[in-house]
Amino acid sequence: MRILVTGAAGFLGSHLTDALLADGHSVLGVDNLCTGSLRNLDHLRNEPRFEFREHDICLPFDFGKVEYVFNFASPASPQDYSRLGIETLAVGSDGTRNALDVAHKYQAGFLHASTSECYGDPAVHPQTEDYWGNVNPIGPRSVYDEAKRFSEALVMAYHRYRKVDTRLVRIFNTYGPRLQANDGRVISNFVVQALQGQDLTVYGDGSQTRSFCYVSDEIDGILRLSRSDQHLPVNIGNPNEWTILECAKTVLRITGSSSKIIFSPLPVDDPMQRKPDITRARKFLGWEPKIDLETGLKLSLEYFRETLPLRAGLAEK
Ligand code: UDP
Repeated sequence: MRILVTGAAGFLGSHLTDALLADGHSVLGVDNLCTGSLRNLDHLRNEPRFEFREHDICLPFDFGKVEYVFNFASPASPQDYSRLGIETLAVGSDGTRNALDVAHKYQAGFLHASTSECYGDPAVHPQTEDYWGNVNPIGPRSVYDEAKRFSEALVMAYHRYRKVDTRLVRIFNTYGPRLQANDGRVISNFVVQALQGQDLTVYGDGSQTRSFCYVSDEIDGILRLSRSDQHLPVNIGNPNEWTILECAKTVLRITGSSSKIIFSPLPVDDPMQRKPDITRARKFLGWEPKIDLETGLKLSLEYFRETLPLRAGLAEK
């Protein structure tokens, strides 16, 4: 198949591209590089089955016939979407619509990268797909949360009214190599801080929880969903729940770092708890994650070590 991946230069988009190429497909990667990096695609420079177009999907596009569309373009870390608020709203609305129009035109399958942020600061725990969420529509996270919720509505509308063969994955916190070392997310911050001997910055008292999925598990779940006939949202995430303080201590243990833990203010509307109910993924996709947090952190260390000299270089400039 010739497959379109929007957001191909991002963390998940680039891993997805690799997995699709490994399955024998051709991939057309599209990205405007507002948060993604060509470094994530460097190793594909001589791959004839991969082509890349630098393009903002908020503008209509048509790069020829494709048989499947994976819509992964969006700023995704709280730091990035806060900086790029309007762009985040635009890619979740105009961008998703343009990607859906491509799928409609070529009668291609469509999978949209949605998020656990659709549940907001959830009052139901763990989160099942039929929970409608608890989202502040005007708070600092709303540019991301409401963009993704609007995208879900658009995807379902294209499915219902235009018969596009759509799927929705709700992605929970995912980590691994190619997570940007400086995008402010908790795993990248803690690992980089630990490796550099800096204090680990726990926001709030660290009692808020997250459930971390290693990237290869996440991609496996996404590919299984793409081959399924599930049109309703499916949670793909690791149900092992950690407090952020436990996470910090685990990073210290795995890295052998003697860094200290310090506490800083909790960001506004930071969800207090998050854990996927993956019954649907288990039942319909035969999927569950295999890699626990400690193993996944060990698998990620080499990548983060390699990024340190780069960060030092950037700091000098
Ligand atoms: N967090 C933290 N220290 C950091 C970065 C994040 O304590 O240096 C916390 C953050 O407040 C949140 C959790 O870790 O409770 C996960 O944050 P992240 O930005 O990775 O993603 P989120 O799940 O909030 O979208």
